[in-house]
Amino acid sequence: MKFEHALVAGGGGFLGANLVKTLLRRGVAVTVFDNWSTGREVNFSNINDSRALTVITGDVSEGLPEVDADIVFNMACPASPPFYQADPLGTIRTCVMGTLNVLDWAHKRDVRVVHASTSEVYGDPLQHPQREDQWGNVNPIGPRACYDEGKRAAEAALFDHRRIHGTDARTMRIFNTYGPHMRPDDGRVVSNFIVQALKGETITIYGDGKQTRSFCYADDLIAGILALGESEKQIDRPVNLGNPDEFTIEELAHTVTELVGSNAGYTYLDMPVDDPVRRQPDISLAKELLDWEPVVPLRNGLKETIAYFKSAIASQT
Ligand code: NAD
Ligand code: UDP
Repeated sequence: MKFEHALVAGGGGFLGANLVKTLLRRGVAVTVFDNWSTGREVNFSNINDSRALTVITGDVSEGLPEVDADIVFNMACPASPPFYQADPLGTIRTCVMGTLNVLDWAHKRDVRVVHASTSEVYGDPLQHPQREDQWGNVNPIGPRACYDEGKRAAEAALFDHRRIHGTDARTMRIFNTYGPHMRPDDGRVVSNFIVQALKGETITIYGDGKQTRSFCYADDLIAGILALGESEKQIDRPVNLGNPDEFTIEELAHTVTELVGSNAGYTYLDMPVDDPVRRQPDISLAKELLDWEPVVPLRNGLKETIAYFKSAIASQT
């Protein structure tokens, strides 16, 4: 890899843990900085050689540790709606203060920042699929705003840092991603459906299930994150990272029940406030700049994720 020591803020969470493990496998020393609000140390339990891994507990909104690293990945922020809405002011602080601290830390050391933004900056999108030049349609005062607007402010801070200080900061807009290292109680749709199906519970579909998402498998996304971190091109725009294969939530529910072999049925519950109706990334920019696109089809990724949750649930009991 083009870097030797990575600082991963939020490295104990779902995507962070997948990123950290890939970095370690590729010979990069890693410092994880995490407040463990949604992250879990168990994510690192089966690392064979942990000498290259340092774990520091702390909160990005209060500042980053004095460590040497030649790149920082800012993954710190709860991403599941129930978790980021449980402490909305904390979510805003993490997004805004945390990202400012990451940017200041990196500028002081002259190292690259790879920042995790989100498809939520497009809100309930007015155009379909979503391209990076769309400005978004976000309710700025609703229950999702702490995350959506927090992430939008973080992007604003990042691009001002670039303009004012010349900080080498890049931002990826991640679309719904799933895979191993998700918490069984994470609350997002893929983990909910799989855990419900494995436990023989009914699948909870919110609304009529006709809303869509485009699901990316974690390994694909991590390859995109690393390509963004390693690229020597001038990357001065946000880059969408996600899988453009779009599914309704009902289709996802049917696929999960078929793959798990469950037959407990479906319960239709109220649609959460401001839940986006459609979401699909246009990844032309990532293809052009990073030569990256996902390769894992939904069914294959779901099979891997079902196997992961089977063993995660078994180890809880
Ligand atoms: P996650 O909740 O599993 O992980 C977040 C990690 O950040 C956890 O380890 C948590 O303890 C840590 N954290 C939270 N607040 C912190 C703080 N103030 N200081 C230090 N650590 C803190 O979420 P995830 O799915 O792994 O998402 C990682 C990043 O990617 C987030 O920034 C999220 O917004 C972004 N993202 C994820 C997705 C997705 O589908 N997974 C989609 C869009 C964006
Ligand atoms: N969803 C659902 N049942 C669940 C969890 C989520 O139908 O048990 C729906 C949710 O309303 C949304 C979609 O699945 O339309 C994706 O939700 P998730 O929380 O995974 O991510 P986000 O809304 O942030 O895209």
